[in-house]
Amino acid sequence: MTLQNRYENLNERIRLACERSNRHAEDIQVIAVTKYVSVETAQKAVDLGIKHLGENRLDGFFKKYESIGNNVTWHFIGTLQSRKVKEVIHYVDYIHSLDRPSLAKEINKRADQIVPCFVQVNTGGEESKHGLDPDELESFIEKMKLYPNIKVIGLMTMAPLTEDETVIRNCFRSLREMRDHIQSQQFSHAPCTYLSMGMSQDFEIAIEEGATHIRVGSSLVGNEKKN
Ligand SMILES: *Cc1c(COP(=O)(O)O)cnc(C)c1O
Repeated sequence: MTLQNRYENLNERIRLACERSNRHAEDIQVIAVTKYVSVETAQKAVDLGIKHLGENRLDGFFKKYESIGNNVTWHFIGTLQSRKVKEVIHYVDYIHSLDRPSLAKEINKRADQIVPCFVQVNTGGEESKHGLDPDELESFIEKMKLYPNIKVIGLMTMAPLTEDETVIRNCFRSLREMRDHIQSQQFSHAPCTYLSMGMSQDFEIAIEEGATHIRVGSSLVGNEKKN
């Protein structure tokens, strides 16, 4: 399948998921995750009209950024080490992986603009996964008030790798409930409007549960690293 076929296919699946859940496809922002592909393939995605790209590692991000530049919106979706913040903070548009106070403090210190961030939550309870424990979320978000360069625009999660749709759906649903709770408090530093959830294997479930940003890699731009 060509990239264009995969893009059309993705859009059709988004349309159907929206139809099932009474939503509008315009309300779903697709982020093409280019971490498994070359700069050339990422550029092809941009040429097709894809305007939001995501990378989870700094080296991959810079490789693409050097060539594609800021003709697109850049989402940093991976674990971010505090000591690397200063290298990247003036180039990325969104951070999806804010998950600890020390990272927030460093972003606040190094940024000279307001950085829109998603707070990452570990909804699956897996030890290995990054993200805040749901019990810590509210106090974490309150604490973000200390950092004027951080705006909490939403929550992000990754569901566990499982075939069990119920487990995945429950993760997404619980993230939405947390979002609703935070949003209802009308914090000016944390409007918390958006939900970044859903990847190649589970974006349809995520859309049904309220995702506003889906992060799709292999099923859209492909995976050139796998043999
Ligand atoms: C790799 C990655 C994705 C996309 O993964 P696919 O399964 O290839 O769609 C989404 N979000 C994060 C945080 C990732 O690291």
